[in-house]
Formats: sequence, structure tokens, C-alpha cells
Amino acid sequence: MSLREILTWPHPALEAVCEPVEAVTPEVRTLAEDMLETMYAAPGRGLAAPQVGELCRLFVMDVTWKDGERNPVVCINPDILERGEEVARADEGCLSIPSVTAHVERPTSVRMVWTDLEGVVQDQWLTGFAALCAQHELDHLDGIVTLDRVDDAQRTTILDAYEVRV
Ligand code: ZN
Repeated sequence: MSLREILTWPHPALEAVCEPVEAVTPEVRTLAEDMLETMYAAPGRGLAAPQVGELCRLFVMDVTWKDGERNPVVCINPDILERGEEVARADEGCLSIPSVTAHVERPTSVRMVWTDLEGVVQDQWLTGFAALCAQHELDHLDGIVTLDRVDDAQRTTILDAYEVRV
């Protein structure tokens, strides 16, 4: 396994619509393992393939490890089938937009299907932080970042702070 460089906004890879993963090959496994290692080192709780320059529909997340227990999840070709009616706003950070957060509104529960590293299709309702994290990472696969999910006023405020720190 090896660490990958995390690209930062406005790198063009972060605006790309990624291609489906055709099969769970050894290269895909290596990518997923590298991404998990990179995510833990960052440290973060989610990382999408385009953030390391791979334009394929794969992300990794672990929403519990910062509380002491590792539960790595690899999501290949994820898709959201249903969204719960309740929405909430939360401050979201992004490893590709370091040191700023965006106040983003999202559904608090989503039903997502994906293929895992064993090639098994998973179909689960995600809630709480897992739902938020999965939606954030899935956005990356469609070239969408948190800055695209806020109004113009907030975007301007975030970019001012971002440019000062970059
Ligand atoms: Zn992100």
C-alpha cells in the first residue's frame, strides 16, 4: 500500500464526472487500499477516487475510526436510490478544500446501493453521519464539491477564507 497525493480544489479532476468501475480487478483493490491508507493519514473520514486523480466511481469511508473503532467501507459504483424526507444542515470539511468548512443541507437518510471489494452488491439505508459522508463522497464522483452546494454569499465567504490560507 502507498499514500496517494490528495488533489486540492480547483484541480480539474475535482470537476470531472467519473467513469463506472468495470470490474473489481487487483488494480481496483490496490487503489481502494491506498485510498483508505491516505484517508486515515490525512486524517479524514471519506475519500473519493478523483481526489487522488483517479476518475472512476469509487470512494472509501470510515465514519467511526476517529471514535476508536475502524470500519472501512469501500463503495464501488455507488448510487442513491431513495432519499429520506428530513433534511439537515451540517458543517462539512473536505480533504480537497482544506481548512474551511461549508454549511451544507442534505437529506439525513439515503438508500444507497454499491458494490464492495468482494464484488457483492450492498443495498442499505444510511443515516446520521454515514448518510452525510456518503452523499459528500458520491458528489465527488459527479464533479460536485461542497462549494457547489451552498449559495453565492456563502461560497464567496468560504473562498475568501480559502484563498487567504492557500
Ligand atoms: Zn470532499
